[in-house]
Amino acid sequence: MLKVNNISKNYGKVQAVDGLSFECREGEIFGLLGENGAGKTTTFRIIMGLIDANQGSVTLEGAPIDYTKTDQIGFVTEERSLLTKLTVEEQAQFYGALKGMSQEEIDKALSYWLEKFEISSYRTRKIKELSKGNQQKIQFICAIMNHPKLLILDEPFTGLDPINVKMLKDAIYDLKKEGCSIIFSSHQMEYIEEFCEKLVILVKGKAILNGYLNEIKKAYGIKQIEIIGEVQREDFEKIKGIKAIKKHQNKWILSIQNEEVVDKVFQAIRSRKIYKFEAIEPTLNEIFIEKVGSLK
Ligand code: ATP
Repeated sequence: MLKVNNISKNYGKVQAVDGLSFECREGEIFGLLGENGAGKTTTFRIIMGLIDANQGSVTLEGAPIDYTKTDQIGFVTEERSLLTKLTVEEQAQFYGALKGMSQEEIDKALSYWLEKFEISSYRTRKIKELSKGNQQKIQFICAIMNHPKLLILDEPFTGLDPINVKMLKDAIYDLKKEGCSIIFSSHQMEYIEEFCEKLVILVKGKAILNGYLNEIKKAYGIKQIEIIGEVQREDFEKIKGIKAIKKHQNKWILSIQNEEVVDKVFQAIRSRKIYKFEAIEPTLNEIFIEKVGSLK
């Protein structure tokens, strides 16, 4: 398990990370979400031991992360860290040897992953001749070919088309099943929402939301109802707690103050012909906008 305990980092007057704590257990996918400059990359660099925090600590399986542990961490950065003059095979051999793998282990892992990503024919091609998406896949392979305990993915889907995004996602789910702890950063909420059971949202280095996604959503509560049926605007107008009533094609969309209003609306129209009645869970995007908006 990875434990990040109250870390802070400043660059001069810029507070890049401010008292951040979280845990990522085995087989968990953890999301680090934040706008540009929120402190995601700085957090990763501290976890990897590439820079020192001004305060706080990071442990992997109970011990601080030093050079004896870095072999157990796979890191895929946003700015690609490949040696572009090497061939794919040479690249894998270089990274595999750094991670203490034997020649045979490297060959086996490389064949497996090249086939899985449908790029076996690139094995002896130079990295610089590959498309960006395929370079991204090679970087991913080099990060995971020794089955790391912790995998850090900094914006892993940037520049990938939907088919390649799907391939990478499937590979990440396979690693999760093996028990790998995965931390994943993005400023795209839909990826975090789909992918991560646990998350932190960073604003100027501070966690403004931290915990399990389902609990965060539950705490936020239902704020919208969608109804299709034989109902009129007047049916809703007298109900207390409705903030807005909109109609989009044949669907009524009600913004409500809290979950208690759901039952009031249901009771008010229960004798009508109703084809759809749905209390809509908030999206992470809505929660983010409300949270960040309330800070401004
Ligand atoms: P992005 O999504 O754009 O990659 P990020 O969330 O990864 O952003 P960081 O790169 O961690 O954000 O940056 C956090 C803050 O620290 C920013 O204000 C950034 O300008 C500042 N910063 C980062 N690295 C340095 C550095 N080496 N020297 C000075 N300031 C820095």
